[in-house]
Amino acid sequence: DHGLSEADPRVRTIIDKEKQRQFKSLELIASENFTSRAVMEAVGSCLTNKYSEGLPGKRYYGGNEYIDELETLCQERALAAFHLDGEKWGVNVQPLSGSPANFEVYTALLNPHDRIMGLDLPHGGHLSHGFMTPKRRVSGTSIYFESMPYRLDESTGIVDYDMLEKTAILFRPKLIIAGASAYPRDFDYPRMRKIADAVGAFLMMDMAHISGLIAASVVADPFEYCDIVTTTTHKSLRGPRGGMIFFTREPVLGVDLESAVNNAVFPGLQGGPHNHTIGGLAVCLNYAQSPEFKAYQRKVVSNCRALADRLIELGYKLVSGGTDNHLVLVDLRPLGIDGARAEKILDMASITLNKNSVPGDKSALVPGGIRIGSPAMTTRGFTEKEFIATADFIHEGVKLTVEAKRSVSGSKLQDFMKFIGSPDFALMDRVSD
Ligand code: PLP
Repeated sequence: DHGLSEADPRVRTIIDKEKQRQFKSLELIASENFTSRAVMEAVGSCLTNKYSEGLPGKRYYGGNEYIDELETLCQERALAAFHLDGEKWGVNVQPLSGSPANFEVYTALLNPHDRIMGLDLPHGGHLSHGFMTPKRRVSGTSIYFESMPYRLDESTGIVDYDMLEKTAILFRPKLIIAGASAYPRDFDYPRMRKIADAVGAFLMMDMAHISGLIAASVVADPFEYCDIVTTTTHKSLRGPRGGMIFFTREPVLGVDLESAVNNAVFPGLQGGPHNHTIGGLAVCLNYAQSPEFKAYQRKVVSNCRALADRLIELGYKLVSGGTDNHLVLVDLRPLGIDGARAEKILDMASITLNKNSVPGDKSALVPGGIRIGSPAMTTRGFTEKEFIATADFIHEGVKLTVEAKRSVSGSKLQDFMKFIGSPDFALMDRVSD
């Protein structure tokens, strides 16, 4: 049995190239992070070999005594990392990722065509919260359930809770979803709880982006107000790619959430759990209880604030005017450019971030903004000073984008891409000036 270099040099080479890319670039994608060596070791271990359908002590396969020990430990650590009392809350650590975790919750709580309300994707929500366009039901969530999005107040960039309340009273959803993929502010959980109670809906928080910040208590705690909390494990939490579902043990609206969620995960939507991921997650959740982790999360927020302040100083318009968490959303429309062009040019300068729609956008393919996150570079040791320098680099890239757009006749994105790849626009020379 050979190691990877011998057994498959082609894949080895691709991994090496990706490692170099990760090493060399400024990684500013808000949903990404660098997990620890200890997590990687668990994820690359023999745990991947084992089948263990079911839950600890109730498996459909033999040979699971150590897997039972591992999953139980992971559950205990998950509750401890989020300061939860095991009498009141339970957790399922088997979801394969964030989108399956969300769909498992919908399967647990809803019947087909029941109504849900989540934050609209162009306003910062996630696909799996029910996204659809006027022409097409895009996410499976909007195919199998009836989705009515809520939105931001475009003048403030903050969730329009008044409109959410009015719409909920008319639409009568069975589930309201808090949480987002591109929202720089905290959610008003007490207000959302009140709205959910007024219409007899479950309240779920998808804390995927900010679960690390929540574990470190640097943003508000959704567990005080929600019935169900889902998360990915690979974003600010710094774990392996995976998902978790937390549920209250008390029945809600007549539903026993524990059995409903556990059955939705298996046999509802999944088969065997990915035990190597659960191993990595247990490692991550142990670290999440340490003082170093809490200090790291505080830095994620203060670094992001330093980045936001510098961008504001440079004249940029930020959605909501700033940030309370790990990300900022920059509206590039006042400069006459869009996020797709800026993303491309910044990518050529090894600054990795993503185009993102901003409130009022017409197109999701050519959206008006960019999303910038602080978790990954904070893991690599960046302080506020380096994030201020990062804002300055981004500014250079944006200026080049403005210049390049002016130089291209017409405004088609494809022509623009051709131009910036051509010798007429020697980007690298200019960035190194
Ligand atoms: N929920 C939110 C809020 C997210 O931002 C994401 C991914 O970015 C997901 C769920 C989905 O996670 P995954 O990509 O692991 O399915």
